[in-house]
Parts: sequence; C-alpha cells; structure tokens
Amino acid sequence: MPYSFPKKSLGQHFLVDQTVVDRLLHCLQPRTGDHLVEIGPGRCALTKPLLQHLRELSAIQFDVIEFDRDLIEPLIVLQKTNPFFKVHEADALDFDFSVLKKDTHLLRIVGNLPYNISTPLLFHLLQWADSIQDMLFMLQKEVVDRLVAPPDSEHYGRLSVMMQYHSAATRLFDVPPAAFNPPPKVMSSVVYIKPHVVLPVVANDYRHFFELVKLAFNQRRKTLRNSLKTMVNDDDWAKLAISPQCRAENLSVADFVKMSNHYVHLCDR
Ligand code: SAM
Repeated sequence: MPYSFPKKSLGQHFLVDQTVVDRLLHCLQPRTGDHLVEIGPGRCALTKPLLQHLRELSAIQFDVIEFDRDLIEPLIVLQKTNPFFKVHEADALDFDFSVLKKDTHLLRIVGNLPYNISTPLLFHLLQWADSIQDMLFMLQKEVVDRLVAPPDSEHYGRLSVMMQYHSAATRLFDVPPAAFNPPPKVMSSVVYIKPHVVLPVVANDYRHFFELVKLAFNQRRKTLRNSLKTMVNDDDWAKLAISPQCRAENLSVADFVKMSNHYVHLCDR
C-alpha cells in the first residue's frame, strides 16, 4: 500500500538518510531486557531496523505511539509477526506513559519527534520522569540549544530550567535538512536525556515551582523585582540572597528551587 503524502500538520519529515538511522541506533544501544517506546514511528525508518535488532535480544518490549491513522496499517502488519511489539494509535501529547510500564524495567523512549509539538511533548514526558530510564530524540536544533543551555546564556529559558530540574541532557550530533523527506527548513540535533535518579535539588511544592518559573520567564526582559512583584516582596529578596535586579535567565535551577521553597515555607506559617 503506497504511503499518503507527508502531513505538515503532523510535523512529518521522514528520515531517509541511512547513516543517520545507523548513528541513532548506535547511540541507543538496546540491550536484553530493555523496554523501548518510539514516539511517531511514521514510515518505520527507525522502527524496522530496531525490530530487526531486537529480535536477537530476549525479554524485550517495544511499544510505538503513532497519531496518523494513515500510517497505522503497516505497523499492525509488523505487530502480527513480532509478539513483543505493540502499536498504540494515540496522541502522544495526552498519552498516559505509566500504562506501558508492566514490570520493574524503566522505559527507554526514542523518536524523531514532530517538531511542531516537541516542547509540549517534552513537558508532558516530564510527568513520567520516574518511569523513564532515558530518552533519545531528534529535535529542532534550536530546541536542543534550549535543553542544554546553562544560566546566563542566550537560549536559557523555562524549558531549560524545567528539563534540567528532572534530567541531564547531552547534544550528540547535528543533522542537516537533507536527511529528511520532505526536508525541514531548520537544522536538527540528536539529544540524549537522562532523568536524574536522585534529584540534585527538590522543590517542596512542585506545582508552585512550576508556576514560579513560568511567571519569571513570561517577561524575561524584566528584572525579577518586576516580573515577580505579585509573589516576592523586598524582605523576601533580602532573605533569599538573590538580587532582585537579576533577570530570570540569570538564575540557576537551584536558585529557582530556593525561591519556591522559601515562598512555600512562608505560606505554611
Ligand atoms: N520516525 C519517523 C522517521 O524518523 O522517519 C517519523 C518521524 S516524523 C518527524 C514524526 C512522526 O510523529 C510522524 O509519523 C507523525 O505522524 C507522528 N506524530 C505527529 N504528531 C503526533 C502525536 N501527537 N502523537 C503521536 N505521533 C505523532
């Protein structure tokens, strides 16, 4: 059955460069006992070589989540001949990843993600960080710049703080548009994300920490005294030992956690 035209609305840029596929598989290094999950298998550029590799390993589970109904049929054919392979026709953005975890094995998530939803998808995945061993993603280069950015740098923002709270991200290699069909207008990068086994700093009220970071970066050009004036007064700034003249981009993850914990402590009094 011929494939339908790539859908722009679903960020469909299919990998066609075999050397990039090989490099991705080499970085993933599946091992016996792994539980793999692929988001957006599409036309199976990664899925088929992965399946071939996994057949040689035992006790493995491989789930794929694909939203495009037009791409499901060939995946179902693969499911029929591979008992460890399961297809989920679903939207990864509201998928409950905890339903996949059947035993003590953590999930290893891989994907050439649809770029139009990659940031909300990363935020969605953070909810299941405890169930995830690691993630290997192809993303728009600019998103990877944000994932790995340190404080005081151009790309440091809300995504950097929230992802770095939960995990450590490493850029592995860049991929040019010609590796895809149709080629995207932007450069891509492959990133490896490893959730922290033990969080280096812990927010006492995660919801509050989340909202604080959001508010601080909503007006990132303003000083924190202005952007957080509804939340932090002059006395608090003095106790926090953080200059209110700073901007959100100057604060480390630990600074944001310190601020949030201080505020939550005040609310408790
Ligand atoms: N893995 C394939 C490859 O590398 O050639 C396809 C990658 S393509 C960039 C993104 C894939 O994600 C497409 O197959 C698309 O249909 C799928 N997709 C888009 N939005 C999705 C969503 N919300 N949930 C699950 N899959 C989605």
